[in-house]
Formats: sequence, structure tokens, C-alpha cells
Amino acid sequence: MRNRKVTYRLYPNAEQEARLQETLGLHQRLYNRALEERIRVYQEMGKGLSFADQCKVLTQWRKAVPALSGLNAQSEQVTLKRLHLAFQHFFRRVKNGEKPGFPWFKSIHRYPGWGYKTHGDGWKLHPGEENKHGKVYLQGIGMVPIRGKARQFGLPKTAEILRKAGKWYLSVTLEIEHVQRERGDEMGAFDWGLKEFLTLATPQGIETVANPRHLRNQLAELKRLGQEVSRKIRMAQEASGRKRGFPISGNLRKAIQHLSRLHAQVARQRKDFLHQTSAELVRRFAAIGTEALAVQNLVQGGGAHQKGLNREIHAASPAAFLQMIKTKAEEAGSWFEEAPTREIQPTQRCHACWKLPDEKKKLSDRQHQCPHCGKTCGRDENAARVLLRWLEQRLAGASGSGREPSVVWSGVRLSEPPGASAMKHETHAMA
Ligand SMILES: [Zn+2]
Repeated sequence: MRNRKVTYRLYPNAEQEARLQETLGLHQRLYNRALEERIRVYQEMGKGLSFADQCKVLTQWRKAVPALSGLNAQSEQVTLKRLHLAFQHFFRRVKNGEKPGFPWFKSIHRYPGWGYKTHGDGWKLHPGEENKHGKVYLQGIGMVPIRGKARQFGLPKTAEILRKAGKWYLSVTLEIEHVQRERGDEMGAFDWGLKEFLTLATPQGIETVANPRHLRNQLAELKRLGQEVSRKIRMAQEASGRKRGFPISGNLRKAIQHLSRLHAQVARQRKDFLHQTSAELVRRFAAIGTEALAVQNLVQGGGAHQKGLNREIHAASPAAFLQMIKTKAEEAGSWFEEAPTREIQPTQRCHACWKLPDEKKKLSDRQHQCPHCGKTCGRDENAARVLLRWLEQRLAGASGSGREPSVVWSGVRLSEPPGASAMKHETHAMA
């Protein structure tokens, strides 16, 4: 059994749109009211309310407030659960000796949506032909047309209603018995780069996967819009003499909306790109290797020079991408492994002689020039080739890490790398 998420866009009519808004407002007030209660109890008694306590209070509130009793009871509990999680985070920080603020009250503009716990309780999915598009029934809102398609359909379990950049979405968690995914029979290892998205080494040679051009263009546009919004905010602050609570002109509001829409669009396209690329890797390879992700890699991958939204999109992607490959590789039954960076040092080590340089390469050194064997190639190419050699060693079961190569590997076309015997000699240091 495996859980899969599928997101549909909702197409409510005017009346349903108003009810969605109203429901969002009720959940937002419930969240804030419950937060107020938790803060009060914490300040008076020095301890927190439990989730169960709050659910009991909710029962009383439902009796007293007709609007609340009109909502799906389980979805209200989901909202309380979200607050509970925010408070657990708060308590963890208290325990660590930090001085955290309480979780924030949420304005309606920042309130993300609500959730349902059980299919058939407050919501019901009616997928269309071939599980494409269809409708969803939402308690108190009605039958709302949806657009979207799960790659593989399963049993609907939980759902979330999300509002993003003025649009409504339904995110459904499906339980899938057997995920079907094709598996390739090649082997390959890749490295992240600033210039190329991936540099891929296979026994046949080097390939690269570029960052899509339209994304690069959109990132530039995003940056320009972000600067424009910051400038307008600064001007409004200066004109009113207030840092917060300054009047927001129609012009500024429009610019903010535009920025948030473009940001959502870029984030979505970026995610699509990561999904496609990871799917292609799994479709082609039975064994995939890369470098384990460290915080440092995140900064490198994100480009330390980038700020704000751009960084957010870039920096999130390596971690998200690795997770996607991991999941898809499991579904396909193929091998995916991350090399321990400190041990292997793929950017420093020479892929040809497996030696480390006496003097460390700097980030600005774009070329690999081995002081020992004289091998010269691109920095990313070298790293990818180091990872490939490491992967080949792992597949041959020679690394001594205790994990036996699975049967899967018998399907991998193994080729003897040049100088493999010399490498075997060196792998004692790796283990
Ligand atoms: Zn060398």
C-alpha cells in the first residue's frame, strides 16, 4: 500500500465560491479562536491544552455557534490538529531553551484552507471517465466540478481544500495497492550543477540535463516583479511614515497579486520539470547514484547570490527532486543510492585515479585537473564520473558497507570501468 497525492482544480459557480469563502472564514476564525484559548491557558496555567481538550471545547462551541455546527465536524478537528502541530513546534523550541513567540494568528488572506479526514464524511469524490476530471461533493458547498487526473487511481482517503493565488484546489490522498512503474536496465550517476541542472555519467559517457529555458526567463521576470513590489512597498511606507499598516493602493495590490500568481505558476512548472526528469531517470535506469544532500549543497544549488522567492524555488528543488527519485525508484523496484559526501568527496576526488588533491578545489574552479594523474575535464563531469565509479563499486558489493546488493542489480548492465582493478585497491579507504 502506498499513498499518492492528486491535485484537482475546483471550478465553483458564484454561489459555491461564496460558500467556499465562507467556509474558509469559519475555519480561520476557529483556528484563531482556538489559538487564543491555548495562549490564555498557557499564560494562566503555564501549560498547554491538549488536542483532546480542544476537541471537547469544540463540541461546546458547535452547540453555541450555529455556523460552526454547519461545518463538517471532522474538518474542524483537522483545523484543531493543525494548530496542535503548530503548538508542538512551539513547545519543542521552549524545551530547547529558545524564546519562541506563540504561533501566529492567521489573517483570512494568509489562511491556506482546510482538510477532511475520511472519504464520505463531509466530502465525496466523483471522478469522471477514466478517472479524469469529474466532480467533488463538499458538505455545505455542493457538487463542484473539478479538473485533474491521477496517473494511477486508488482509494480516496483524505482531502484538503486549498486556496492559492485566488484559485481553489482539492488535494486528495489516494491509497494505491500496487504502483506500476516501468524500470530501465542501465546504470547512471549524476551531479548537481549551477550551470546544468544535472550532469549524468553512464558507462557510455556524459550527458547533461539543462534547466528549462522558459523557467530561467520566468525567474528573471519574477525577480523583476519582486523588486517592483518591494519598491512600491517602500514608497508606501515612506509616504505614510508607517512600517506596518500602511495603506495599500490598488496599484500595489495588483502588483502583489501578479507576483503571487507568477510565483505559483513558476513553482508548479518547476515541480512538473522535476517530476518529469525523475520519471525519465527511473524509466531508463535500474541503478541511480548521486551525492547525499547536505545543507551546503542546498546553498550551492540555490545560488547564494539569489534572494527571496527565487531562492525559495531553487533551494527547495534538490531535496524535492531526490525525494521524487527515491519514491519512483522504490515503485519501480530499482536501486537508488546517495554517496556519503564526506567520504567520497565527489567534487574533489579524481575519477580516473581515485585520489584526492593536496589542495582543495574552490567553488570557482570549473575544471578538474588532477595533480596526480594529469586527468583534465569539467568539474561537474568529474564529480558525476566519481559517483558512477562509486555506484559501480556498490553494485559489485565491494564497498563493505554491509548492505548486500539486491536481486534487482542482476538486471543492470554492468561494464567494467577503466582501471577497475586499481579502484578496487582504493575502495578500502571508502569503506
Ligand atoms: Zn587523477
